[in-house]
Amino acid sequence: MFGQASRELAQAVADSGYRPDLILSIARGGLFVAGSLGYALDVKNLHVMNVEFYTGVDQRLDMPVMLPPVPNAVDLSGARVLVADDVADTGATLKLVRDFCADHVADVRCAVIYEKPRTMVRCEYVWRRTDRWINFPWSTLPPVVQREHQVLDA
Ligand code: 5GP
Repeated sequence: MFGQASRELAQAVADSGYRPDLILSIARGGLFVAGSLGYALDVKNLHVMNVEFYTGVDQRLDMPVMLPPVPNAVDLSGARVLVADDVADTGATLKLVRDFCADHVADVRCAVIYEKPRTMVRCEYVWRRTDRWINFPWSTLPPVVQREHQVLDA
């Protein structure tokens, strides 16, 4: 599913004629999307922005927070940027990133796998729309912990 979703999302970007100079991924969920879009659009210049907002299913901080390191404005300067994330839910995360970019870049557009109806930022590229909570395979299970000592076969 994810392979097809990211491929179709990339096709929508290509069909629109937008040729990003760089892809700005919103970690962590956007990393998967950004990597796939990077291959599909033949963009090797990938940047990461760390934004913390959700602490659980529909559990949020008061507002999204940018965590260091913040992307270097010089790297973004004058670029056509494609912001990649997994979901636009309230849209607050994308608004923060879009506003951060707006002062520096030539053009900024957003691509997401899912967009929810209440989002305050309308993404230019959306694979599917839903108002439900989405479970991704990489973020559904709790983090792994070290297991009891095991005897490993040679
Ligand atoms: P927003 O700022 O648009 O409310 O939320 C953006 C971030 O919250 C997304 O990048 C994603 O990490 C997380 N998020 C929001 N809604 C969902 C959801 O339905 N499922 C999952 N797995 N994450 C979500």
